[in-house]
Amino acid sequence: MTTTDWTAGRIAAAVRDGEISAREVVDAALARIERYDGDVGAFLHVEQSGARRAAATVDNLPAAQRRTLPLAGVPVAVKDNVVTRDMPTTAASRILEGFRAPFDATVVARLRQAGALIVGKTNLDEFAMGSSTEHSAFHPTRNPWDLTRVPGGSSGGSAAAVAARMVPLALGSDTGGSIRQPAAYCGVVGMKPTYGRVSRFGLIAFASSLDQIGPLARTVADARLLYRVIAGSDPCDSTALEGDAGEGLDEAVSLNGLRIGLPREYFGDGTDRRIRSVVAHALDRLESSGARLVEVSLPHTPYAISTYYLIAMAEASSNLSRYDGVRYGMRAGGRDLLDMYETTRAEGFGAEVKRRILLGTHALSAGYYDAYYLKAQKVRTLIRQDFDTAFLEVDVIATPTTPDLPFRLGERETDPLQMYLSDIFTVTSNLAGIPSLVVPVGVADGLPVGLQWMAPPLADGRLLAIAELCEKTVAIEPNWPLGGTMS
Ligand code: GLN
Repeated sequence: MTTTDWTAGRIAAAVRDGEISAREVVDAALARIERYDGDVGAFLHVEQSGARRAAATVDNLPAAQRRTLPLAGVPVAVKDNVVTRDMPTTAASRILEGFRAPFDATVVARLRQAGALIVGKTNLDEFAMGSSTEHSAFHPTRNPWDLTRVPGGSSGGSAAAVAARMVPLALGSDTGGSIRQPAAYCGVVGMKPTYGRVSRFGLIAFASSLDQIGPLARTVADARLLYRVIAGSDPCDSTALEGDAGEGLDEAVSLNGLRIGLPREYFGDGTDRRIRSVVAHALDRLESSGARLVEVSLPHTPYAISTYYLIAMAEASSNLSRYDGVRYGMRAGGRDLLDMYETTRAEGFGAEVKRRILLGTHALSAGYYDAYYLKAQKVRTLIRQDFDTAFLEVDVIATPTTPDLPFRLGERETDPLQMYLSDIFTVTSNLAGIPSLVVPVGVADGLPVGLQWMAPPLADGRLLAIAELCEKTVAIEPNWPLGGTMS
């Protein structure tokens, strides 16, 4: 029995029914991590004893109580910028080495309550700044489909852990594409919910007006299962939305007559032709199943990258001012207090993080604020209005996720601008606050390709329903990497 090939839904049902024990499930997951993570490097911390204790708790519950747990015995990996009480949290930064949070993030508390087993913390680009998981202070993560290539980022550890079937579910965070881009690169499902749908309490802040936690999974149904557990209002996060997050989650949709918007700005020559052809094939299949493909325009798209990087860096420079050697993690020596601050930050932060703090501080400085940050906020409004207008004509929007297939480790290290430009299709959902989800729709030269879906604000349920139809209609049978099947 290889429960590592099972979906989260199947595991939870079998554990609830007492068909298998949570202990067997977690042992299989830990064994697979042990076997493959030396090559993949998805984890920064594996929590064997905690996961086994959680499994024992699930197994020892009275059957009636166990039957109420939506994630009974399901192993879950958590990106290491989400705080956990009983494990280290580093955000893949030296500056947080040795830090232990005194509390669980809201999403983690909800996972535990739902019967999930947290098996460890996954690798990321330092403070979630990056698109390749090469900018971790500890080690890079490799793409399970081809170990010479990056898994994408910044949630590369979570995406790789799911693709390598070490866990059926993982949490990522998405500020400008960090769930969706690695999902596309690793051939898994990744969802960024509507801004505010999932509590950010306990997520280490990068850019607070853009950050959102969301699920990575191998099927859309599993992503929905995880979303249902983590979504909803939270008194600890004033930006978490009120209202029923479960609303519309079981909405039935049909492809028949569904209006799928194709933004002309997202279908240019800049995208690898192999991605264009896999995406075109998927759209053809949807059209022959009754969907209507409608060309739309999002005219402010050319400004999205500059707008995103200005806002993200400005907010990051402010959020990262709290790491001073006093309050969290590492502290370097120094002649006096000021010297200690400076040395801690000089030694604790990596190059990409420093680059962003410098640029962000500049954008916020007196005299430049109006020209940069304020201007970027105005363009952000225009980008959001583009989506409002498009959604008057269509039910949902479909686009490629990235312009390129997964690249080789080291290939873009010296060219940050090139790395930033590849976020072109994902940053707009964060700027607009809308929900967005990636589904694998094919393989090109042995590497996965994902289709990105975007829906109006709060239409997370509809987005999941449409993505599930896409998954069924396009029906690829991926040849999962590192051996294994899907059941
Ligand atoms: N790649 C983008 C960046 O580097 C997005 C990161 C993210 O979503 N956390 O900022």
